[in-house]
Amino acid sequence: MNNRVHNFSAGPSILPDQVFEKASSAVKNFNNSGLSILEISHRSKDFMNVLEESRSLALEIAGLNSEEYSCLYLQGGASLQFLMTAYNFLNNNAAYINTGSWSSKAIKEAKLFGKVAEIASSKDKNFNYIPKEYDLNGSYDYLHITSNNTIFGTQFHSFPESSCPLFADMSSDIFSREIDFSKFDLIYAGAQKNLGPAGVTMVLIKNNLLDKITRNVPSMLSYKIHIDKDSSFNTPPVFAIYCVLLNLRLIKKEGLESIGENNLTKSKLIYDEIDNNKCFSGFSDYDDRSQMNATFNLNNGYDGELFNKICKENNISGINGHRSVGGYRASIYNALSTDSINLLIKCMKEFESNYN
Ligand SMILES: *Cc1c(COP(=O)(O)O)cnc(C)c1O
Repeated sequence: MNNRVHNFSAGPSILPDQVFEKASSAVKNFNNSGLSILEISHRSKDFMNVLEESRSLALEIAGLNSEEYSCLYLQGGASLQFLMTAYNFLNNNAAYINTGSWSSKAIKEAKLFGKVAEIASSKDKNFNYIPKEYDLNGSYDYLHITSNNTIFGTQFHSFPESSCPLFADMSSDIFSREIDFSKFDLIYAGAQKNLGPAGVTMVLIKNNLLDKITRNVPSMLSYKIHIDKDSSFNTPPVFAIYCVLLNLRLIKKEGLESIGENNLTKSKLIYDEIDNNKCFSGFSDYDDRSQMNATFNLNNGYDGELFNKICKENNISGINGHRSVGGYRASIYNALSTDSINLLIKCMKEFESNYN
């Protein structure tokens, strides 16, 4: 597939061409079964194999032991995880670091289930940094962070040392770099940012967390039931899981170390241009810049319409900032090539040359 446009969209977002190709052929005939992936039973052997491989690959890529951790594929997006984490594990008091809109939404949901201590927040500066100082001395059921702030373009480059279980919303940077996943007790990620299509959410959960559940949780919201039923308590999103599997195979083949280096290089290219181009300014603090979502603003006195026109002429799509913050956001997920980044940089330079 020759990619028609350079897709910088924040999500749903770009995926490797190979995923689109294999997924589309499976829509016609899956594994030479004479059936479409869209019509096979979720209890069929063929799909059970897909589910099993997607679970074990995710754990393997994360370097997690399958005795210690489970991998689930659930529905309801990361937004359902905001409340599901709290419903299952917020017994008394949980700590949250508020680094943007998604963290704020997670906090709002958690408050329905217990006490929330917002131990740090970057709201004072419109979420343009990651707070580094916080007091974790209280007794908390867990600490929740958002590892990458898709909207504001900040990212944790190191993680809190907590004695309580550590939970993370990694929707927009899961498997984008090598990190120590075993620091976390629960990780969730809506697939549509860096993993696959919308409609499935990956959860990596430490099995011994289940001992801490005291509430009666409805079945669909119970991690325990989803683990017991192998992510098939009800009909799982078969096609979305299959697409995630196709992507996980590629991620495993390349390896997180190489993927991370590549993403770092890509993000440096774009941030260098943002810093050196007189028409634009970066939004987030230098040290906390996201390697996945580069946010920047147009400086006063420059014509945004003209920049948009140049981007459009060059088939660049999806670089408008989130509707809540404006400006620009170049989402540069795993599948986005250096060529696409270089093209955006070329457009930024061409725009600047109008003002010489
Ligand atoms: C997109 C996003 C969400 C929301 O995901 P849904 O799957 O739409 O619920 C939550 N957290 C982060 C960090 C995101 O980027």
